[in-house]
Amino acid sequence: MKVPTKADPRAATPPVSTEEVDVRSLEHELRRSTEAEVRFTAGDRAIYSTGGSNYRMLPIGVVIPRSVDDVVETVRVCREHRAPLLPRGGGTSLAGQCCNVAVVMDFSKYLNRLIEIDADARLARVQPGLILDHLRDPAQAQHQLTFGPDPSTHDHCTFGGMIGNNSCGVRSVMAQFNGPGSRMSDNVHELEVLLYDGRRLRVGKGSSGDPDIDRKLTELRDRYAALVRERYPDIPRRVSGYNLDDLLPENDFDS
Ligand SMILES: Cc1cc2nc3c(=O)[nH]c(=O)nc-3n(C[C@H](O)[C@H](O)[C@H](O)COP(=O)(O)OP(=O)(O)OC[C@H]3O[C@@H](n4cnc5c(N)ncnc54)[C@H](O)[C@@H]3O)c2cc1C
Repeated sequence: MKVPTKADPRAATPPVSTEEVDVRSLEHELRRSTEAEVRFTAGDRAIYSTGGSNYRMLPIGVVIPRSVDDVVETVRVCREHRAPLLPRGGGTSLAGQCCNVAVVMDFSKYLNRLIEIDADARLARVQPGLILDHLRDPAQAQHQLTFGPDPSTHDHCTFGGMIGNNSCGVRSVMAQFNGPGSRMSDNVHELEVLLYDGRRLRVGKGSSGDPDIDRKLTELRDRYAALVRERYPDIPRRVSGYNLDDLLPENDFDS
C-alpha cells in the first residue's frame, strides 16, 4: 500500500509499519532532497542491522547526513512517507537501542564537530555525532577540564547516543560529588531538538521551547507532583523511565 504524502507537518500522523512504507519513493525523495549519503542496498542495511547488542533488525535504509539541513529534510521525507526513524551514534548500546526496522540516521560520520569550549562557563557546544574522547582530550589538554559521564566505550560513543541512553560511567561518580551530577542528563545544559513533526526546539531549564508542550508537561507535573515526590526512588544513577521529577518546581522545570 502506498501512503499519501502530507504537506502540513502539524498534520503528521505516527509512523506506520514497514510494509506500508513506499520504500522506492522514500529512497528517491531522500536522494532528491538531501546531500546525504542515502544507502538502501542489502549490504548497507546488513551493516547497520546491529551494534553492541545481541539484537539484529534489518533497517529500511540508512541515511548519513552531511549537514543539519540534511537532517531536517530526512525527517521531513520520512514523515511524509510515514516511515519510522532511528538516530544512531557509535552503535554501542547493549540493549538493542540502535537497531530497528526504520530509516537509520547515522550522525557519527559528518555531524561530529566540537564547536566550542567555553572554559570559564565550563560548557562545550558539540554536534551529536562527536565522540566523547574528542571533547575530553582537548578539554583536558587545553583547560584541565573533563566531562563527567564516561561510559567504558568513551573512544566510540557519541554525545547523541549518551543523551539517548542517559549514560553514566566510572568517573561519573566524581561528577556526582564534585560536578553537576552523575548522569548525562545532569550534565546537559541545553539541546537543539528536531521533532518528527518538524518542530525545532531549544530545550533547557524552564522551558521545552514550545508553549504547547510546556502547557502539557505542566499539567502532567501538577497532576502527579505529590506522587512523584513520594514514590520516585532516590537513586543517583536512575536512568530508566521518565524523569518526571525534573519537572518539579524545585528542579526548575528542567525539560
Ligand atoms: C563494552 C561496553 C561497555 C559499556 N559501558 C557503559 C558504561 O560504563 N556506562 C554507560 O552508560 N553505558 C555503557 N555502555 C553502553 C553504551 O556504550 C553507552 O550508553 C553509550 O553512551 C552509547 O553511545 P552511542 O553513541 O554508541 O549510542 P547509540 O548506541 O548509537 O545510540 C544510543 C541511543 O541514543 C539514540 N541516539 C543516538 N544519537 C542520537 C541523536 N543524534 N538524536 C537522538 N537520539 C540519538 C539512539 O537512537 C539510541 O536509542 C557500554 C557498552 C559496551 C558495549
